[in-house]
Amino acid sequence: MSGTFSSNARNLEFGAPPPGVPACQGLDPEIFHPNPSDANRDPSPAERAALAVCEVCSVRDWCLERDMQECSTDRRISGVRGGLREADRRALHVQRFGRRPARRKAEAGR
Ligand code: SF4
Repeated sequence: MSGTFSSNARNLEFGAPPPGVPACQGLDPEIFHPNPSDANRDPSPAERAALAVCEVCSVRDWCLERDMQECSTDRRISGVRGGLREADRRALHVQRFGRRPARRKAEAGR
């Protein structure tokens, strides 16, 4: 799955959501939080089920961009969003922003 990032994910302006209803609207959010698979393995069946929902979502690119810009570190990414599983979003995040240092314990507790 690595390397299949949205083609324009690096160029989108992050602003108001585009028109359209998110395909995940009304679904159980737990669907989008499967146990994460390793980056060097294929997505799990549970991840594929979530990715299939994203695949037909009309706001997918915006969703991915929002996720990228709202993730505070490459270590704090969870679940399937914007058509990418956790491992692939982490890789994209590192590609775009690099690795950010872990917050110190005192900061992390805030
Ligand atoms: S792309 Fe984002 S908004 Fe669309 S179904 Fe996936 S998680 Fe939901």
